[in-house]
Amino acid sequence: MDLLDVIIIGGGIAANTAALYTARANLKPLVLHGPELDQLSLTTTVENFPGFPEGIQGPELTTNSRKQAEKFGAKYIEGLVDSFEVKDNYFEVGTKNKKYNARCVIICTGASARKLGIPGEDQYFGKGVSTCAVCDAALYGGKDVVVVGGGDSAMEESLALYKFAKKVTIIHRKDTFRASKIMQDRVLKLKDKINVVWDTSVTQVIGDGKFVTGVKVKNLKDNKESEIKCDGMFLAIGHIPNTKIFEGKIKLDEHGYIITDKRSKTNLEGVYAAGDVQDPIFKQAITSAGSGCQAAIEAERRIENLKAKGEY
Ligand code: NAP
Repeated sequence: MDLLDVIIIGGGIAANTAALYTARANLKPLVLHGPELDQLSLTTTVENFPGFPEGIQGPELTTNSRKQAEKFGAKYIEGLVDSFEVKDNYFEVGTKNKKYNARCVIICTGASARKLGIPGEDQYFGKGVSTCAVCDAALYGGKDVVVVGGGDSAMEESLALYKFAKKVTIIHRKDTFRASKIMQDRVLKLKDKINVVWDTSVTQVIGDGKFVTGVKVKNLKDNKESEIKCDGMFLAIGHIPNTKIFEGKIKLDEHGYIITDKRSKTNLEGVYAAGDVQDPIFKQAITSAGSGCQAAIEAERRIENLKAKGEY
């Protein structure tokens, strides 16, 4: 059996940092990444990653960090990991095509965009319903769009969209945003371009069978229902951690995030988690990179300990 030192699951900045550190420690990491784009690849300029005074494009940060890891010998294979098994003293990680075995696993599977779960949402997904304004904004030139949510992502999506769209309407279920002050200010000062509908939830996506034509909404204060005509609905209502395959095997919190200690260790000896999959609080590129580094150093220590004990 081919037994690797470390498998890293994921393809974002946490995974790439873990790959860089484990590669430099000569652990010859295998990185298994699925087809879904990481969060940085869905964003534009990243202004808060230290070392880039002019900012850096999110996709470039992902690509560069991968190249940096590959330079030191990290191997990347595209394959959605669909199984994880705990064996006697190693772990088996499976994709559709192949199973891989390793002494350590670093989980960096991130989190996927949350959906509203309302009628019409799935039917019109990709036909007016989107979770990525940065990817799709240019398709909405001269059109009307709504953005759902009140966090930094909703602000960011609106700021990406207003440059193309005729009108952007943010629909938020509360009467205040939870987004950072600086992002809120950028949005709120564009009053003629970006309108905000407060205390309102979207109850249905409507369309003509081919594409979105509007959304049904309900005012949560007076329960009045109405319709907002639009050509697109952008969801920015947070993310759900990608931990389904670890359920019952690794300790998760009540929202499905992997529970880690201060050293990025999970409850399983030899399994570490880094990035958004274990972080319901910060979710920043720099904190993801930091936890990827921690996990890698811990994996390196484990391999050294196994060697010292003669169990390698
Ligand atoms: P978030 O901060 O969790 O905000 C999610 C928003 O969606 C909240 O306003 C929430 O409403 C709303 N929401 C959640 N579930 C909903 C539902 N079922 N129906 C309607 N609305 C719903 O998520 P995020 O904006 O994706 O940000 C995540 C993290 O990334 C944050 O730490 C953020 O600072 C960071 N981030 C930073 C930047 C940046 O600095 N440029 C950009 C993007 C994200 P309530 O407010 O009512 O709970």
